[in-house]
Amino acid sequence: MSCIFCRIAAGEIPSQKVLENEQVVAIRDRAPQAPVHVLVMPKKHMASLAELEDPAIAAALLKGVKDVAAKEGLKEFRTIANTGAGAGQTVFHLHLHVLGGRDLGSLG
Ligand code: 5GP
Ligand code: ZN
Repeated sequence: MSCIFCRIAAGEIPSQKVLENEQVVAIRDRAPQAPVHVLVMPKKHMASLAELEDPAIAAALLKGVKDVAAKEGLKEFRTIANTGAGAGQTVFHLHLHVLGGRDLGSLG
């Protein structure tokens, strides 16, 4: 298994897990861009949002985002999914960034 996030999800590579259930795992980003920076990913490998077909996984991901925010005490947070290298994606296993804990301003 060469995908780094598959290996993290399987527990082969250590990570700081924030949440885990049957379909989804959430870990702290190793290079946080905000006081809270968590990555919510499906356990099943898919390269990006462009490959997401299963509505149950889509729902589990969004519920995971919401549950991470609640667990981290965030009332305000930003959720980002970079899709494709040109959009800033560097790890090609679908993940949603959850950022919060500071004033994030507006996107631009
Ligand atoms: P992307 O640029 O693909 O949207 O986001 C990838 C994110 O994964 C980056 O924010 C990067 O810091 C994080 N990351 C990459 N490799 C690892 C790792 O091995 N462990 C953890 N916890 N985060 C990682
Ligand atoms: Zn993977």
